[in-house]
Amino acid sequence: QPFIRLEGVSKTYRFGGKEFLAVSDVTMDIEEGQLVALVGPSGCGKSTLLKVLAGLHNHDSGTVQIGNEVSPFTPGRDIGMVFQQALLLKWRTILDNILLPAEILGLPMAASRERARDLIEMVGIANFADAYPSQLSGGMQQRASIARSLVHDPKLILMDEPFGALDALTRERMNLELMRIWKESGKTILFVTHGIQEAVFLGSKVAVLTAGPARMAAHFDVNLPEP
Ligand code: ADP
Ligand code: ADP
Repeated sequence: QPFIRLEGVSKTYRFGGKEFLAVSDVTMDIEEGQLVALVGPSGCGKSTLLKVLAGLHNHDSGTVQIGNEVSPFTPGRDIGMVFQQALLLKWRTILDNILLPAEILGLPMAASRERARDLIEMVGIANFADAYPSQLSGGMQQRASIARSLVHDPKLILMDEPFGALDALTRERMNLELMRIWKESGKTILFVTHGIQEAVFLGSKVAVLTAGPARMAAHFDVNLPEP
């Protein structure tokens, strides 16, 4: 049994008497430890699919299974999320920002603090543990938000265009960094992007969502080049 199984998943938004088909009949398996790049044009339903996996939206039909759990999920629990914006709390230090999910979930603080220290090291901003977000560049803030997504040791990390707001050069560097972090952490990562090059570069599997009335998912496995 695969770690994640999506079977015929559809989601329609209903708003103002209108219906918007966001995700249509998506079927896909994800194995544990894979870095799956979810790629497709704007509006094809990538974010919606991520929100369904995160338990932030319910889907209308189909089955979503993560580990031994079948949807509907409770949000947050065993999932880490990284968004386009780092969304750090500006009045908290970087270390205290990274600790936030552990605090919210009520995990033992001493152990979590130790783990946060390891993670801040892993993402390469250990010198900034006691700094405030405004003292960090965009790329460094995103490193902090990646560490925050790992602090409660979730099995699955969902990333919604995490480097989309960064300049092209920083983005390339962060893609390499993510590759390293992925290998070190051994986590299953679902990475949303609209850049096909980025998807093929990063993904051990690439899932393509297409736009249009009959939205379909295609996917293929990529042989990872050694960096
Ligand atoms: P769920 O997606 O689990 O049904 P939500 O509370 O997210 O729960 O959404 C309930 C309904 O409200 C959705 O079906 C959607 O159509 C509508 N909705 C939610 N957010 C928005 C939004 N930002 N704009 C328009 N409609 C929305
Ligand atoms: P992507 O992430 O691939 O750009 P989204 O999942 O954000 O796509 O959106 C898929 C489709 O659903 C789009 O047509 C978008 O306009 C629509 N949509 C997204 N969120 C909502 C919402 N809360 N209410 C109504 N329609 C929505």
